[in-house]
Amino acid sequence: MHGKDVVLDGVSMRFGDFTAVQPTDLTIEAGEFFSILGPSGCGKTTILRIISGFLDPTAGDVRIGGDTMTGIRPNARPTALIFQNLALFPLMSVWENVAFGLEARGIAKATRRERAEELLAMVALDGQGEKKPTELSGGQRQRVAIARALAVEPSVLLLDEPLSALDLKLRQHMRAELKELQRKTGVTFIYITHDQGEALTMSDRVAVMNRGVIEQVASSDEIYSQPATPFVASFVGEQNVFRGRLTAVNGEVAEVETAHGTLRGQPRNGVAAGDDVMIFVRPERVGLSRAGAAEARDNRLPATIERRDLEGPFVNLHCRAGETSLMIHLPNSGESGPDLAGEAELGFQIADAVVMPAGDLAR
Ligand code: ATP
Repeated sequence: MHGKDVVLDGVSMRFGDFTAVQPTDLTIEAGEFFSILGPSGCGKTTILRIISGFLDPTAGDVRIGGDTMTGIRPNARPTALIFQNLALFPLMSVWENVAFGLEARGIAKATRRERAEELLAMVALDGQGEKKPTELSGGQRQRVAIARALAVEPSVLLLDEPLSALDLKLRQHMRAELKELQRKTGVTFIYITHDQGEALTMSDRVAVMNRGVIEQVASSDEIYSQPATPFVASFVGEQNVFRGRLTAVNGEVAEVETAHGTLRGQPRNGVAAGDDVMIFVRPERVGLSRAGAAEARDNRLPATIERRDLEGPFVNLHCRAGETSLMIHLPNSGESGPDLAGEAELGFQIADAVVMPAGDLAR
């Protein structure tokens, strides 16, 4: 097996008056684990259906390995698709399920069996071939579906929220397995999800999509630490958001007039004096100084700690500063104990705050 690159060239999709996918240019490299991340209804599945050939785009061209896919039927494309609901055949054995696509290609039974066993070994289901799908666990059934999709030796595997029916523990385990399988096979994986954790842990690169537009394509690290838009910043990970008006930009420092006085952060996306802006700061980047313990932070504001939630190694503090709700993540230590409540001073550094023109927020 080997992966091929996938190019979307000006691809768009309209359903009547509604534009589900705005004109999109995108290149997914051969052998890449690529995720498309976005909320329900943003157009991710539509893009996947266009790549697989189940939907013809309103405009634009899809190329796989340099070949145009226009006019090529789904089963003649070098792609395979895995859905959330697996649709295994309940009356067939596991190995027959895996070998299903090979029969249509006229491959002899003995060879089919052999190939199915190889694939079952690859997904750690050796020796389970004679069972029926109902005799397997949810995670095992998911692996059968993956083996079945890989049986036809696709160059591109399209996965539409394949883990969402599994429980949390299994989902986390399967993430690692999928990533490993992708690495082993070298097949290009295009993975659709609304779950940022899934996208960030598995992918080489992630596209974040909002209302039919891909707002950013970057590595997981970059999506998290250098979000390109307010939507990406607020959809990926938690953010504290302050709104205000930009009064001045001095080199790498933007000064913003807010309901909490002047706050400062790093200017992004060409913000200029007079703009309505948003300041984003991650909860783990906000510090807390309690009554009087002054600490040197570039920005400070008074707030009330309203609630404390223990989340294993972290403590989440829900705070309020005027109209603004804020979240702080502290390590679970002696200093973040249950008596942490009431009035406090919050602070954050300019280097940890990003200032962007105001825009769409997630949720
Ligand atoms: P989800 O995670 O809920 O599946 P999604 O991001 O995959 O969401 P799509 O299924 O791509 O979203 O749908 C994008 C938009 O296009 C939605 O608003 C949907 O209602 C609309 N849409 C999708 N298919 C059709 C269709 N055949 N006719 C009309 N509208 C459609």
